[in-house]
Amino acid sequence: MQRNLFNYLKKKIGKDKYLDLEKFLNVILYDKKYGFYNTIDKTNGELIGNKGHFITGPEISQLFGELIGVWVLELCKNNKFKNINLIELGPGKGTLMSDVLRVLSRQNKSLKITIHLLEFSDKLKSFQTETLKKFNFSVLWYKDIFKLKYKLNNNPTIIISNEFFDCLPINQFKFYKSKNIFTKVIIKLNENKFSFDEKLLKDQEVPIICKNLTKNPDNLKDETIIEYSGLISSYVDEICKIILNNNGANLIIDYGKENPFGSTIQSVYKNQKSNFFDHIGQSDYSSLVDFKNIKNIVEGNNLLFYSLKTQKDFLLDMGINSRIENLSLNSTILERRELMSGYERLISKRQMGEIFKVNCFAKKNVVVPIFKV
Ligand code: SAH
Repeated sequence: MQRNLFNYLKKKIGKDKYLDLEKFLNVILYDKKYGFYNTIDKTNGELIGNKGHFITGPEISQLFGELIGVWVLELCKNNKFKNINLIELGPGKGTLMSDVLRVLSRQNKSLKITIHLLEFSDKLKSFQTETLKKFNFSVLWYKDIFKLKYKLNNNPTIIISNEFFDCLPINQFKFYKSKNIFTKVIIKLNENKFSFDEKLLKDQEVPIICKNLTKNPDNLKDETIIEYSGLISSYVDEICKIILNNNGANLIIDYGKENPFGSTIQSVYKNQKSNFFDHIGQSDYSSLVDFKNIKNIVEGNNLLFYSLKTQKDFLLDMGINSRIENLSLNSTILERRELMSGYERLISKRQMGEIFKVNCFAKKNVVVPIFKV
């Protein structure tokens, strides 16, 4: 770990002698000077991809982004959208957007599209600029999701994201059922070493969401960990407001589940799981997205939350099999092998097929392709 980052964290930990997980993750992932997403050096390797720290659906195969493109296309057709905002949250290297735009620009030449990208990292913004310059669409960048709403001109808005919500910082709370008390997971610094600890919470410090989740504790174990991200909740709420005001739909692809219980945070360094404190500032941290929490927020905003699909079912429903057959017709043996291996990684149960979920929510009048309530 870099000396500078260490000193910075030490100062942040300061007099309280600890940081909670969310604040710690905020620094090591997003700090402008030292955070993982801002420090990756293009010359020393890539953040995302085979040579980077983690690999994502769009980087594995063009099939992924193209089928999301077909989904967007059908959504526009179903609802007679002619002039849309297409927002991507956390576009990485811009590959997904590029594959989506290739489909849209080929299949519907009259569709007007304004692209909006939410990207925190200047390094990744430069990748995205490079990848998207071949298209003739206007692209606007934002660092702050709450600024998006001012640029949408009341046009139908389609929001997509892949592996975005899983990297937003979370907190962990522990519920001791037998004693009816809650603690918060914290990070301490002792003799220049970081370690996990817990802080007992006073009743008024326990988040309401934790109290609600443990109202009927019969099915919970004694020391149940609850993961909660205030940031995810506020982002989802903002997306709901955007859809309510402009019409449209949201598509999330992320690895996740439908409850907040259990510790799911993991650290990935150079495409391998690593120990939490081993590569601070150089590894990526993510956790499973709690789609139940998202559902509650969406329904609270009077939008329709559709049943989750696994990534496998989503891609099959979108016609991945016929797409791969078509692509194979004009491919060399080597290309065909690559297509097949990408296909396997995207849909097989052992890899991304089941743990990754696809979720759609939309305004009630919108006709959404393939999803059911
Ligand atoms: N969607 C891409 C990249 C996923 S990595 C893909 O599938 O390959 C997560 C992306 O989200 C990166 O581009 C990262 O810089 C961005 N990001 C993470 N947190 C963010 C935040 N709070 N605001 C804006 N961008 C963020």
